[in-house]
Amino acid sequence: MVTGYLAGFEPAMREALAEAARCGADVPVGAVVLDQAGQIIGRGHNQRESGADPTAHAEMLLLREAAQRFGAWRLGDATLYVTKEPCLMCAGAMIAARIKRLVYGARDPKNLTLEAVIDGALATTGTAPRGAGLVQAVQRAVYVRTVEALLTLAADKSTASEVRAVTQAKLVEIRRRADSRSATDAYLAHRIDLYLSDPAKFAPAEPIEAPPGMPIGEDE
Ligand SMILES: [Zn+2]
Repeated sequence: MVTGYLAGFEPAMREALAEAARCGADVPVGAVVLDQAGQIIGRGHNQRESGADPTAHAEMLLLREAAQRFGAWRLGDATLYVTKEPCLMCAGAMIAARIKRLVYGARDPKNLTLEAVIDGALATTGTAPRGAGLVQAVQRAVYVRTVEALLTLAADKSTASEVRAVTQAKLVEIRRRADSRSATDAYLAHRIDLYLSDPAKFAPAEPIEAPPGMPIGEDE
């Protein structure tokens, strides 16, 4: 039982939880989207495993369903309820659909999420990024994630040699273009140098939201 301000969210969150219960072998995540009048206009539950689809998150399926039903991609004025904090893909899709308000249940400390980006910025700069600053912080966080993924791929002994060669060439290029005035670039250049100096000993970063001391969210 939830009381106070949060109580208003409970009925819709219960619907989202009911969706999550339909996930079967998939990680249980459910979502519903309500129009201004409070009517449910879309539902979705995670089907990544069952659908063998990396984009089949609850929110993505729900946005597609609602948009198809209305024959319009713009879902403005809608409120989306999801049982778990959305990932950046879903957050991006919500922005694209012009979703006005998001309500989510549990936080997701393991994955790169908007809150992780904001927390990273708060930790390094003491202020929360907003607007264009937030978009920049997200872009930087995704960029760091991408380069770390390349490093992991290059360092993985089971990676095919041709793939490793292409990946390594990409890393060398990223290193060459690194702008020393950018704290993010400096961090990545350091990571790439570590890898290049001894690929066999290189330890990929833990797949966490932001590597320690990663300067996301600061002005560069
Ligand atoms: Zn997602």
